[in-house]
Amino acid sequence: MCGIVGFTGRHQAAPILLDGLSKLEYRGYDSAGIAVRDGEKETEIIKAKGRLKVLAEKTNGGESVPGTCGIGHTRWATHGEPSETNAHPHASDDGNVVAVHNGIIENYQELKEKLLRKGYSFYSATDTEVAVKLVDYYYKKYGESPIEAVNHAMVRIRGSYALA
Ligand code: GLU
Repeated sequence: MCGIVGFTGRHQAAPILLDGLSKLEYRGYDSAGIAVRDGEKETEIIKAKGRLKVLAEKTNGGESVPGTCGIGHTRWATHGEPSETNAHPHASDDGNVVAVHNGIIENYQELKEKLLRKGYSFYSATDTEVAVKLVDYYYKKYGESPIEAVNHAMVRIRGSYALA
């Protein structure tokens, strides 16, 4: 079982995300990562294989990552080996859709094939990247709100999962 945390507010997000993830460490994990948004700048994603301590060291306890809105994840691999590439958060190629995921997307192979036919490529072996790119696909296809894009993707995704 992995852990998911999210934060948005007036404080720097990264230290709060790391603190939240440390409270979920007892659930077990093989890698960890955070994504933080700083205004209009591109979302920054930092990941590490192994202990949360490695991620904390990479980010100076979160201090080196600016921004007040973010998500964090400790991963227990089900699809793809434990590695920095397969660690969450995962992102669409343009960085507009960024997500962490707990659980299993049972029909990820079928969805991946659909997206491959539409010209998408994949950098990881995870089912999660498929979910992210499916949201991206519907966002671009219908040009509606992000919530609508997530709704379209949820209609297609089967399994047990939590996403942020
Ligand atoms: N199925 C996803 C993966 O393998 C999420 C696993 C988890 O719940 O940590 O990356």
